[in-house]
Amino acid sequence: MIRSPLPAGLKTGILHLGLGAFHRAHQADYTHDAIAASGGDWGIEAVSMRDPALAEVLARQDGRFTLVERAPEGPVSKEITVIRHTHALPGNAAAVAARMADPAIHVVTITVTEKGYGADVGARRLNRADPAVAHDLAAPEEAPRSLAGLLCLGLGLRRAAGLDGLTLMSCDNLPDNGHVLRGIVLDHAGHTDPALSAWIAGHCTFPCSMVDRITPATTAETLALAGGDPAAVETEPFRQWVIEDAFAGPHPDWAAAGALIVADVRPFETMKLRLLNGAHSFLAYAGALLGLEFVRDVMADPLMARAVRRHMDSAAASLEPIPGFDPQAYIQALLDRFANPAIAHRCLQIAMDGSQKLPQRLFAPALDLAARDLPFDSCATATAVWLHFLAGRDAEGRTLPLVDPLADRLIEVTRLAGDDAGALVQGVGPLLGSVAETLWARPGWQASLARALVALRQDGLRPVLARGA
Ligand code: NAD
Repeated sequence: MIRSPLPAGLKTGILHLGLGAFHRAHQADYTHDAIAASGGDWGIEAVSMRDPALAEVLARQDGRFTLVERAPEGPVSKEITVIRHTHALPGNAAAVAARMADPAIHVVTITVTEKGYGADVGARRLNRADPAVAHDLAAPEEAPRSLAGLLCLGLGLRRAAGLDGLTLMSCDNLPDNGHVLRGIVLDHAGHTDPALSAWIAGHCTFPCSMVDRITPATTAETLALAGGDPAAVETEPFRQWVIEDAFAGPHPDWAAAGALIVADVRPFETMKLRLLNGAHSFLAYAGALLGLEFVRDVMADPLMARAVRRHMDSAAASLEPIPGFDPQAYIQALLDRFANPAIAHRCLQIAMDGSQKLPQRLFAPALDLAARDLPFDSCATATAVWLHFLAGRDAEGRTLPLVDPLADRLIEVTRLAGDDAGALVQGVGPLLGSVAETLWARPGWQASLARALVALRQDGLRPVLARGA
């Protein structure tokens, strides 16, 4: 067990919302290392948004937990002691919000999953059809149920106490996550308390951040490796955090732990979405169709490993160069991470919610490639593999589940199109948002997609990939 002790009297300077596996494997690990390297009262108060049991388990062990890093050559355990208090949100929103009015708290970090924002992501404002959002806008005097309602309650108390603003940082996998967070908070405040909205806009910041560390759900094996620690989490050795340099006040020296603080996160985020997440989606649908359970199984298949690299190389040609950054080294590191035999990342977990993920992962790079007169065949093949997956059967005829907010409509379009690949291509486009709308209007895209789908249906996935499509 690796231990880097932190000062016993460490005070808290960060409030974290969303005490899931990823927070413990990423921000908690970075912050622990930052304090060990550089000091500062940056202990974390972590809020369990839904599961009071997790807050209680951690409280019983003074916030300590074991982080098991699963390297190919064997597991390494680290003791993380940076979490100093835990809260459970259910029934406790007023007390949690009041923590934002403590002068010692300067930063709020957030991992509540993509759905937890109640956002219309493209428009960067609240999705008024979300029940928690609708409740909070209609009854602002009641306990908040939405993220924006909770944050605005806390920020109102902070303003009333005459304190400085806060840095509020989303660490979820949303494109432009800081802008989305700012958008929903100002939308809520603008509706319920315009003076508060003006104070937030003038005093608080919402840096964008790109986060990366593959962290599967904890299993019985994780707990056994951690000697029975019920709060243990397992993750891969790699970690990355790129943070926009936009802080409202003091913050931990995360750079001392290896985080990059940059003026513009977008090039890093685009690179990650297109190379890591884009390849993940492609290999997840292909793996599921081939009856392979985990990412590591897909990467152990030489034909698939070659196809994944080919897709990454093609997607890399759609990126703006990042000074001092070597895309080929990044791609090689991704291939090694995906192949890690100690990480059990399910293809079907990655395959969920494709309609929400493919626009930024496959359609946006296809558009940029077309704009540069470069071929977008690899993005078309990957999209066709998803369309093939929608039929709901793998190569052996086993059922594949479609977990997607648009599942009903996707199944209906697939059924209506029948054997007509062109009809499926045409029917699915309008369901997939504005990026798809632009791409579907692009000469050659629909034909390329239909051709790839016909080949997948007639010849099968392996022959199509073997031809290097
Ligand atoms: P998890 O299931 O362990 O934790 C999810 C957390 O979100 C829990 O605290 C839960 O209470 C909260 N939550 C869920 N729905 C919510 C809602 N509607 N409102 C408020 N809170 C809600 O998952 P995780 O592995 O911790 O991943 C969380 C997020 O972190 C992901 O959705 C993603 O955006 C980001 N992320 C995860 C990984 C990873 O590999 N696990 C990698 C990069 C980024």
